[in-house]
Amino acid sequence: LPVTGLSLNDPTLFKTQIFINDEWHTSDNVFEVRNPANGKLLANVANANVQQAQSAIDAAAVAFPAWAAKTGKQRAEVLRKWFDLILQHTDDLAHILTAEQGKPIAEARGEVVYAASFVEWFAEEAKRVTGDVMSSTWTDKRMVVIKQPIGVCAAITPWNFPLGMITRKVAPAIAAGCSIVIKPAEQTPLSALALVELARRAGLPAGVLSVVTADSQNSIEIGKLLCASKTVRHISFTGSTPVGRILMQQSAPTVKKMALELGGHAPFIVFDDADLDAAVEGAVQSKYRNAGQTCVCTNRFYVHSSLYDAFVSKLAAKVQAIQVGDGMTEGVLQGPMIDGQAVEKVAQHVQDAISKGAKLVIGGKSHALGGYFYEPTLLSNVSNDMQIMSEETFGPVAAVMKFETEAEVIAAANNTDFGLASYFFSRDIGRIWRVAEKLEYGMVGINTGLISNEVAPFGGVKQSGLGREGSSYGMDEYLEMKYLCMGGI
Ligand code: ADP
Repeated sequence: LPVTGLSLNDPTLFKTQIFINDEWHTSDNVFEVRNPANGKLLANVANANVQQAQSAIDAAAVAFPAWAAKTGKQRAEVLRKWFDLILQHTDDLAHILTAEQGKPIAEARGEVVYAASFVEWFAEEAKRVTGDVMSSTWTDKRMVVIKQPIGVCAAITPWNFPLGMITRKVAPAIAAGCSIVIKPAEQTPLSALALVELARRAGLPAGVLSVVTADSQNSIEIGKLLCASKTVRHISFTGSTPVGRILMQQSAPTVKKMALELGGHAPFIVFDDADLDAAVEGAVQSKYRNAGQTCVCTNRFYVHSSLYDAFVSKLAAKVQAIQVGDGMTEGVLQGPMIDGQAVEKVAQHVQDAISKGAKLVIGGKSHALGGYFYEPTLLSNVSNDMQIMSEETFGPVAAVMKFETEAEVIAAANNTDFGLASYFFSRDIGRIWRVAEKLEYGMVGINTGLISNEVAPFGGVKQSGLGREGSSYGMDEYLEMKYLCMGGI
């Protein structure tokens, strides 16, 4: 096996080929997957071409009617088996994930559980798709709504949660009775392939789930095909806002239904009545997880002037204690960034802030470990004209700014085109309602820095996206309503 330094309990989970119609396929060429912690080659993975993506779509179209015709309970049984298999292989999945993505192994295990939770949840929801009976305005007609699977779907997923972002889309699609083609991120195809191998073992019929792995160039071409295809009825994408716009544009000719989970720029507000220690704890959770590479990570901290100095010094002590290293080492709290570009962007935001008057409290440069490691960083004395206050940093940098009034901080928090996650700390019930209602965000964490799980609707407003994933609402993405007007009664 072309593996570097990875020993798995079940080595057959390590797949490097594309999976179409229940078969593994090579392609005309391969692309490299490297470990961001040490640059070592992990695998040469099949680089799917457009023809192969088309055959995945064709297989999905063939598989769809029979899968849609099964009962929700029958689909739930397969999903449930997949859920069990994912959890049984937590350790292997976590190792593959850390090897190609870099996050600490404890976080990777956490992601396996998080990813599995969507499979369990939507296995349960598969049995609860209901319709509606309207009160008819005709005495001789009855009005009914039924829900049906939308058809062939496609998922384009990112590298920051290589397992979770797949199950959050694939599990509801499959539960609803759809078939789906996945195009995972080029940095993290191995996690996707292992996940799909487990779905195969769970007994998912041929063609219901296919994966086409591709490098960045072929991903663009495959993206065009998925958008242009009349067969593909729904595209679910998680990634950057610019790519989301491209996919929307490309999907206009076929008027495709879309779910978009795009960028964020989360504000984190600490009011004067906040529990300071809880706020500092929440700040660390919401900022430094996955080396700051999540779309719900805080990008800007607004702290009331009365707590500002204390907040900065308490946060500094926590940031100082973050152990950086290879994610495979137990105890490490921050792994490498995903690639050189990611490091450059972080360095650029830090330099820009310092040049405009920010104070560097901790960190602020590439880590002594070299490579893609960047120091956990804390900047204070930040102001609104700095790049970091308006552009997504996607790195381990906390930028802290002082504020005075509630009205001022709400206006600042909402002054962005993004609207994904937001956070604030306060113990005043009136303020909590006021602020929660005024924040223009899809998600608001109140006195917590951790908000996401399978029960909650995840998603953003404004240019952070369309639709919601997870929760009982997450299934609706993959269902069409059909109105039946029944006359002659
Ligand atoms: P990031 O900046 O986090 O890498 P991207 O939005 O670039 O996020 O990538 C997320 C996913 O979108 C990946 O699977 C990537 O291959 C894919 N992707 C990037 N550009 C395009 C494109 N033009 N068309 C289709 N997919 C794309």
